[in-house]
Amino acid sequence: MSYSHLAEKVLSHQTLTREEARSILQAPLEDFQEVIEAALKIREHYHGRKVKLCLLQNTRSGLCPEDCHYCSQSAISKAKIEKYSLMGKAELLAAAHKAVEAGARRYCMVTSGRGPSDRDIEHLEDVVKGVKEKYPDLEICCSLGLMDFPKAKKLKEAGVGWVNHNLNTSERFYPEICQTHTYQDRVNTLHAVKEAGLSTCSGGIVGMGETDEDILDLAFAIQALDIDSIPINFLHPIGGTPLGQAEKLDPIKGLLTLSLFRFLNPHKEVRAAGGREFNLKDLQGFAIYPANSIFIEGYLTTPGQQALEARRMIEDMGFEVEEHPAEASC
Ligand code: SF4
Repeated sequence: MSYSHLAEKVLSHQTLTREEARSILQAPLEDFQEVIEAALKIREHYHGRKVKLCLLQNTRSGLCPEDCHYCSQSAISKAKIEKYSLMGKAELLAAAHKAVEAGARRYCMVTSGRGPSDRDIEHLEDVVKGVKEKYPDLEICCSLGLMDFPKAKKLKEAGVGWVNHNLNTSERFYPEICQTHTYQDRVNTLHAVKEAGLSTCSGGIVGMGETDEDILDLAFAIQALDIDSIPINFLHPIGGTPLGQAEKLDPIKGLLTLSLFRFLNPHKEVRAAGGREFNLKDLQGFAIYPANSIFIEGYLTTPGQQALEARRMIEDMGFEVEEHPAEASC
């Protein structure tokens, strides 16, 4: 079956078999254009040519007791990064303002750590209420680590819309990248978030030494969990972390991975996330064929494309930024 036939299958509300999904992920170079155009067809059907911009704020940096091998903030990382405790309300409101100014539709507050304490939740409830008061249309996402239902519920009541907690990779490969918590711990958090009525944000990282079967496992797990928003990160190896010397990801493989997630999650938000600039390089514009969302202004401890540059790229590719409703009506 050709890739455009696979797109038609998806558009007629059928899901791909594992074998069909594998054919996308392992498409030969000569088929790349056909795959990415088929992914675009699905993306256009559900999201038009709009691109949502998201801005991350590293709300507590470093000092984490966990050992995620890809992360510069972990207990075992020797990376030279800025370390600071939970940011105050004024700083987080200023960062929300920066997100709005940059044209971001979603503001994501991310804390290092195994999970939020009751005090962290209390503080963030206050911050979120403040942000919502000032910017009612700004979508708010929190990424705070492992979380139970009562904490998720408090965030929901404060005005948080999404909680991010990435599965990162397959259940099989998970112990290779982290030993301080399990894949199942992460799945449990996603269930708690869903139960609290929040939208879920969960994706993965490619380029950590996983196999294609691991990427397929992750993609089908995300589909089975009915995740609303799916960030796909491309490992940016950071010196001083166990994956600091990881082999570079082939940009075509990165784009095929994004396409795979679009085929399996046709109407969901798929986001080209961390490591996009570093790994996809000159091909990064093609990320918005399958993805309908990108991050701007950098990541947790690595720099990224600035808002103006991202807007130019989006226009050059023939797409348009999904504007903040207040601006769109001007
Ligand atoms: S990914 Fe999160 S939990 Fe893991 S080491 Fe980094 S900050 Fe800690």
